[in-house]
Formats: sequence, structure tokens, C-alpha cells
Amino acid sequence: MNAVNVTTIICPDCGAELPPTAEMCQRCGSSTAKAPASESKENAKHLINRPWVLVVLILHVGFLGIPVYWKTKYSLNTRLFMVIASIVYTVVAVAFIVIMLQWLIRLITGG
Ligand SMILES: [Zn+2]
Repeated sequence: MNAVNVTTIICPDCGAELPPTAEMCQRCGSSTAKAPASESKENAKHLINRPWVLVVLILHVGFLGIPVYWKTKYSLNTRLFMVIASIVYTVVAVAFIVIMLQWLIRLITGG
């Protein structure tokens, strides 16, 4: 295997080696211009596998992000923990808001 291979490009769909000037794959006919798009999709996939991204997600969308947490590469136990943590966080956050609202209403009505 050559460490640096600039004489060919790889088809994003079927993985065929193509001349660098090819705009379409000679094997499957897909456009090689797709390469950057699938690369950024790949980056987005890597992004949700970064712990700090997940923490930010849990804090912002709570249990609404469960489908995203579930798609990560982590083990079943870790994903279960993230799902439970997001539900607990959401319940605590909602309870906090409700308590604050009740306190505000009591403050305003003087009761
Ligand atoms: Zn192809």
C-alpha cells in the first residue's frame, strides 16, 4: 500500500479507484463530486460521538435527543445511561421551572 497516492481518487459510493480527472465513477456511475458531502456527513457522525457534544445536547434538548444518543457508538450501558440521564435532567429541569412559576405566582398574587 502506498502511503501517499495522488494518482487516483476513490469513489464515495462503491470505493472504486478512479483517475483524478473522473467526474463520474466508471463502475457505479455516481458523481465523484459527492465525496465532500459524504465526508461532512461522516464528520457529523463523529461529532455526536464526542462526549462534550452529547453533554451539550443533553443539557439543551433533554429527552428529545434520545434518538440521537441511541445512534452513538457507545456501549448499550453507556447509551442507556445517557437516555436515563437525559430523562432525569428533563424532569428535574421541568420541576424546577414549575416550582419557580408557582413561587412567582404566589409572589404576584400575594397569597
Ligand atoms: Zn462507484
